[in-house]
Amino acid sequence: MTLITLQNYIDGNYCAPTGGQYLEGFNPATGEVFSQVPDSREADVSLAVQAAKKALPAWKAMPADDRFRILNAIAEGIEANLTEFAEAESMDQGKPVWLAKTEMQRAAQNFRFYATAAIQFASESHQTDTRAINYTLRQPVGIVGCISPWNLPLYLFSWKIAPALAAGNCVVAKPSEFTPYTAYLLCRICNEAGLPAGVLNVVHGLGASCGQAIVDHPEIKAISFTGGTATGKHIASVAAPMFKKLSLELGGKNPNIIFDDADLEEAVKTTVRSSFLNQGEICLCGSRVFIHTRMYEAFKAMLLEQVAKMQVGDPADDKTRVGAIVSKPHFEKVLSYIELAKAEGGRVLCGGTAVKPPGFENGWFIAPTIIEGLSQSCRTNMEEIFGPVITIMPFETEEEVLGMANDTAYGLACTIWTTDLKRAHRMAEAIQSGIVWVNCWLLRDLRTPFGGVKQSGVGREGGWEAMRFFTEPKNVCIAY
Ligand code: NDP
Repeated sequence: MTLITLQNYIDGNYCAPTGGQYLEGFNPATGEVFSQVPDSREADVSLAVQAAKKALPAWKAMPADDRFRILNAIAEGIEANLTEFAEAESMDQGKPVWLAKTEMQRAAQNFRFYATAAIQFASESHQTDTRAINYTLRQPVGIVGCISPWNLPLYLFSWKIAPALAAGNCVVAKPSEFTPYTAYLLCRICNEAGLPAGVLNVVHGLGASCGQAIVDHPEIKAISFTGGTATGKHIASVAAPMFKKLSLELGGKNPNIIFDDADLEEAVKTTVRSSFLNQGEICLCGSRVFIHTRMYEAFKAMLLEQVAKMQVGDPADDKTRVGAIVSKPHFEKVLSYIELAKAEGGRVLCGGTAVKPPGFENGWFIAPTIIEGLSQSCRTNMEEIFGPVITIMPFETEEEVLGMANDTAYGLACTIWTTDLKRAHRMAEAIQSGIVWVNCWLLRDLRTPFGGVKQSGVGREGGWEAMRFFTEPKNVCIAY
């Protein structure tokens, strides 16, 4: 098989890493190497920063209307090449192609949303009696670093890049080295859309070398990072002494709470999605499912029946519901958590093992796994597994379930199923998380804030929150 060689994108050109070294890019469904990924280092990041610095004055001075047109053209470029993007994403990440298509559409929507933000984002003004008027300038931060993970590669990449560009910044970005393909393709689209050279620079490589060089660089003034909590803590410790702006979207161990007055069928149908979509590799997946004792057996039976029908395997097959796990190390990590759950006394109700679908015997597949019989305080329920593994636990009272739901270091998202409006409000108020869904899951409006509390991160992305992050407010006070 001919290997696809990816390149960095610096100053408007595709280029090889200065050290000439490449990493292997794997297809998780087959376990085969299919691409070479630049193993970029400090020297490459430095070139990217120089290009960004050169491009910054013209880009931030460009009329917002022109930025609007370019970002819209990027959205159109993604949509016009949707199949190419979706197949590349699936080959890199292991997810079903049909799912990748929906994510590519959402990535295009991000660019379209922030195209309009470029022309609509407004600032405040305040009159001081009749003595003065204050107004706030929202100026671009300058050169910003965007570091994204492997689970929703282009979608999360676009979520950072689009607002950063809309606000007039130049970007140095690093996608995960496990899933760099669609970010690589996006550079071509940006070029065709008329994005000036140096405004977006993409360097591929390892977190510890290339990512670290972005965080370390003194001319990069803000870091927008999505990834694991341990990496987020490390980045915060490096960036804080330099007073860089930080947005950290980190892990989750999200509760999914089903009260006994919930619509059983809807709750089960959505729980199948919220547990296993994208192989459970979404930070918003509900991995701890709490079910009221009166509903427990009926819910469990219906859930097991539906999960048994989920097809695991060929990402190109539209009927596939669970694709491959992103990498061999992550595959092994998820399996090790299933062993841990068993050692902690958990009963595996379904799945629990690797799967070898016909034609994909060397791929990294794990059957959707449901475990019961564990206490909330065990490691399986405390640590993020980030795979197709959930635990189910019974509860009696609202107070009890609230205590268990909040008994976690994380605080990203929570789903509540109830038809009692007052209870929905009470729970939404008391739950410690950045996002609460009631009787739904992953219903995202691009205008809403996105992010977590506790060890799920600091700052918010989405909507105007991202525009605020990527700009510095400057108050100007003018006397009458
Ligand atoms: P990591 O934290 O390992 O990596 C995220 C990105 O950071 C990658 O590009 C990685 O590069 C890079 N990186 C690693 N070390 C450093 C460093 N020292 N300096 C700078 N960059 C570095 O997370 P994963 O890629 O494994 O992603 C999965 C995690 O992301 C999960 O914990 C999940 O919960 C979280 N996540 C959070 C979301 C949210 O919005 N809250 C959304 C999606 C995922 P490399 O790949 O080379 O290690």
